[in-house]
Amino acid sequence: MMLGRCPVCHSHLSLEAIVQDDAARELLGVLSALDATLSRALVGYLGLWRPAKQDLRWDRALRLAREALALSDDAARLALALSETTEAIRAKGGATPIKSHGYLKRVLEGAPQAAGAVMVAQPAPHASQRVDRIKAPSATVDGVMRLEALKRRARGEVGHE
Ligand SMILES: [Zn+2]
Repeated sequence: MMLGRCPVCHSHLSLEAIVQDDAARELLGVLSALDATLSRALVGYLGLWRPAKQDLRWDRALRLAREALALSDDAARLALALSETTEAIRAKGGATPIKSHGYLKRVLEGAPQAAGAVMVAQPAPHASQRVDRIKAPSATVDGVMRLEALKRRARGEVGHE
């Protein structure tokens, strides 16, 4: 039974293929065990790897998913980095399929440690601010984050933690 195409990675979806393929079942297991935000971001990222006229093979998708997940223990930070990488590469257009995790690693290295807290507390940072934060050394970023958190708390914008 074909379910059509996945709206995120544009792979063809077939329940038979999924249940018959060990890697597909394992990938679904990995994805469903993740936080919803992270699994969505990861699926979007995997779509960057899909060859132009084929579906991404399940075993390859599983390996890539594991590699990406191994890059950080911080689910919120990784989800943010995956989303930013996917947005940035799609915005460039024509750059897919990507061939390495290099771009993701660079975004991740520059991402603030407390990405989850930032995402919750600042739903819509200006793009320019976000770029500044990504480029800044993490020690400085941590200091700025703490300062901002203190200021927000002082203004009563953040509840008890
Ligand atoms: Zn998909």
